[in-house]
Amino acid sequence: MNKSDSERIVGILSHFGYEECENPREADLLIVNTCSIRQLSANKAYSQIGVWGKWKKHKPIKIGFCGCVAQQDKKGLLKRFPYLDLVFGTHNIYELPTLIQRVENGEKVCAITDTAYKADETQYHISRKGNLNAWIPIIEGCNNFCTYCIVPYTRGRERSRDFDVIVEEAKRAISEGFKEITLLGQNVDSYGKDLKDEKSTLANLLRELNKIEGKFRIRFVTSYPTDITDDLIDAVDECEKVCEYFHIPMQSGNSEVLKKMNRRYNREQYKAIVEKIRNRFKHVTITSDFIAGFPGETEEQFEDTLSAIKELQLDYSNTAAYSPREKTVAAKWIEKFIPEEIKYERLERLNEVNKQASIASNKKFVGETLEVLVEGVKEKDGKRQITSRAGNNKIVHFESNTAQIGDFVNVKIDAASLWCIKGQEV
Ligand code: SAH
Ligand code: SF4
Repeated sequence: MNKSDSERIVGILSHFGYEECENPREADLLIVNTCSIRQLSANKAYSQIGVWGKWKKHKPIKIGFCGCVAQQDKKGLLKRFPYLDLVFGTHNIYELPTLIQRVENGEKVCAITDTAYKADETQYHISRKGNLNAWIPIIEGCNNFCTYCIVPYTRGRERSRDFDVIVEEAKRAISEGFKEITLLGQNVDSYGKDLKDEKSTLANLLRELNKIEGKFRIRFVTSYPTDITDDLIDAVDECEKVCEYFHIPMQSGNSEVLKKMNRRYNREQYKAIVEKIRNRFKHVTITSDFIAGFPGETEEQFEDTLSAIKELQLDYSNTAAYSPREKTVAAKWIEKFIPEEIKYERLERLNEVNKQASIASNKKFVGETLEVLVEGVKEKDGKRQITSRAGNNKIVHFESNTAQIGDFVNVKIDAASLWCIKGQEV
């Protein structure tokens, strides 16, 4: 979502005489787009502006700070970091045309509101990175209030974008030559619930996008487990352009912990969803997210997370140690906090089980033929080595004299390692 926001920010600025430069030392305006999901990412943002702040002594640059940390810290940031010129929140990206003019006039500007700034987004260019994957946000915000998570506070309540605007944006990206559309949302499968018309569901959106002419593929992230409807699974099955890939964060393998996290499912319900999807699609991969050391998590409960990864044969998981976030419910359970060394020891064990799961998952595909999209070509020892990605999100390496970036190629898999699989062009 941040990458997508950044592409939109650069796109808006391009209407006001700015262009992206490779070397930040040469820039007149530097903006850090921040993430506050964990303290580590917020700290990275603070230290980045500290570095830029020093550059101001040598050059009259302007420094901006936006995204979720800005939304959280608000006006305090201008006081705390006097070298900042511009602070804007997650709801204020489309206010940038006026904000940037005020900054250029020498004003220090802070624009953070709790509701989205109304503007016709379609009038602005989107400065997309690369030419393969186009990120398209379809729903912003979250209504779930998981007890550990700051997203509802930084991104606000769920707001779905207009169905036809999304379809137009996708058509434009495909006509510009993009080979992949990734639909984005904190809970992408909640799409349309706030619009209350029958047409606006993720399943229908996939069906509509699938009709767009041309060879390309469609992905969607992130799915909330219990919002995956049968209709959505049917749509993925019907639509040949939609990838056999589901990212469905489980967070914990223990039902008691899930309850304390305010997740709306237990281990068995999550398992049933995974099985339903696996039974339907031949080459599907299902990936997940897990948190180690949630407040009050016992050793036995943590072991349920390890056993869930194995039992459900999850193909890969993003993992994190629990990080207390301001305003969230769980951050107040200080007496239940797990000591840092135990939290990180659990994270290490979680990562080890995750590695084993990833190897096992990669091995499943040996002998299978997968269609891949070529992402990179490298010459080594007189051979062209290709990096590509299958529909199920597996990284696939192979050699080819002809494959070019952006090509779709069929590859028969003959070897598997931890982070990738290898094969031969067929
Ligand atoms: N909407 C998605 C997740 C979005 S946040 C869902 O509900 O599944 C991305 C991931 O960050 C989460 O899946 C979670 O694993 C992790 N995360 C969120 N808050 C966290 C916290 N306080 N500490 C550690 N990890 C966290
Ligand atoms: Fe955060 Fe996802 Fe829970 Fe929303 S559903 S509060 S984004 S973890």
